[in-house]
Amino acid sequence: MTDLKFDTLQVHAGSSPDPATGARQTPIYQSTAYVFRDADHAARLFNLEEVGFIYSRLTNPTVAVLQERIATLEGGAGAVCCSSGHAAQIMALFPLMGPGKNVVASTRLYGGTVTQFSQTIRRFGWSATFVDFDDEDAVRAAIDDDTRAIFCESIANPGGYVTDIPAIAAIADAAGLPLIVDNTSATPYLCRPIEHGATLVVHSTTKYLTGNGTVTGGAIVDSGKFDWMASDKFPSLSQPEPAYHGLTFAEALGPMAFTFHSIAIGLRDLGMTMNPQAAHYTLMGIETLSLRMERHVANARKVAAWLEGHDAVKAVTYAGLPSSPYAERAERLYPKGAGGLFTVALKAGYEGCVKFVDSLELFSHVANLGDTRSLVIHSASTTHRQLTEEQQIAAGAAPDVVRLSIGIEDADDLIADLEQALAKVSA
Ligand SMILES: *Cc1c(COP(=O)(O)O)cnc(C)c1O
Repeated sequence: MTDLKFDTLQVHAGSSPDPATGARQTPIYQSTAYVFRDADHAARLFNLEEVGFIYSRLTNPTVAVLQERIATLEGGAGAVCCSSGHAAQIMALFPLMGPGKNVVASTRLYGGTVTQFSQTIRRFGWSATFVDFDDEDAVRAAIDDDTRAIFCESIANPGGYVTDIPAIAAIADAAGLPLIVDNTSATPYLCRPIEHGATLVVHSTTKYLTGNGTVTGGAIVDSGKFDWMASDKFPSLSQPEPAYHGLTFAEALGPMAFTFHSIAIGLRDLGMTMNPQAAHYTLMGIETLSLRMERHVANARKVAAWLEGHDAVKAVTYAGLPSSPYAERAERLYPKGAGGLFTVALKAGYEGCVKFVDSLELFSHVANLGDTRSLVIHSASTTHRQLTEEQQIAAGAAPDVVRLSIGIEDADDLIADLEQALAKVSA
């Protein structure tokens, strides 16, 4: 059957009954290595002439099902899973960058990504130039001869901001550069960045794709559409790759070049591999992705609207609210909803936020998002406490702001919990 819809693909894509046992659920293939049929078979696998399993640092049958599932849901040519969302980001940049090269990145990113890009990648000789992605001229101006990628989030953590992906993709295209979109907060149910012109999509599968707060993981999806041979900027893909006996990936593997490079060199040499247990938990979660996202969005809309009308609340930033400056863009590009994450600022300031978070009963105070459970964090006293107040404000984590990740519980129960906690703040 062809032309299957999202709800069908999230359950079936990439999987079929186990050929050996008939097992209907994808088994956890807990095996490090796979027996070669003969020496010729082994040679063909190592030459990438035949697809198969060699060693689980590179490929594993359980992980392979998840890779195909995610690639299908995102509308990509192929996908590679890795050990975390942060691993996926490094792995996505790895074939593109080199010493002295830079990535032009949005200022509105997950806090951990800001640190990874502004500090840690410098050790590889890479750098990031941060710019406001609402200012298209500034994005164009930030691109120089050493730029090798453009990076943004679709719905940017901690919420309230949605990126105009088609506009950014047009800039990347004109510059002959790949656009990488972190689609963690939106998920392919709410946004498919490749349809809007993205080259690569990265995920923290830790969040909504798994959905139940059990395992960390990441994924890179390649659209298969970027022409790596069009310039001399991407020699790892367009020229003989010395790290793989001189294979020219773009020539030998066409639209699967990036995916195979990420496995044959990225996973082989960086070793940021997803384990089959994690893949299994994520496969279980992804089967219900659309059902959960619909509820996350419906609950977030209801809770955000209620909070916006509360006396103790200074501001709510949720692109799904008509009052948001991004309401029109969200409606146009994210018609199924603006996700389940947003921030709320309290009139009672830092101390009020601490009291609020401590008074909540259903919401868990954790450094995570995208769980079935509702979560809350006061960034200024936790994840962002090392930053100056100025940096906290720039990161959307001002002292009077808390971030909510709205779960799939009954929205009225969530509102009742918020109401009793806000009453304690005002008392
Ligand atoms: C959590 C997160 C990451 C990092 O993912 P890990 O799985 O924690 O490494 C990256 N981007 C976004 C938007 C995230 O929410």
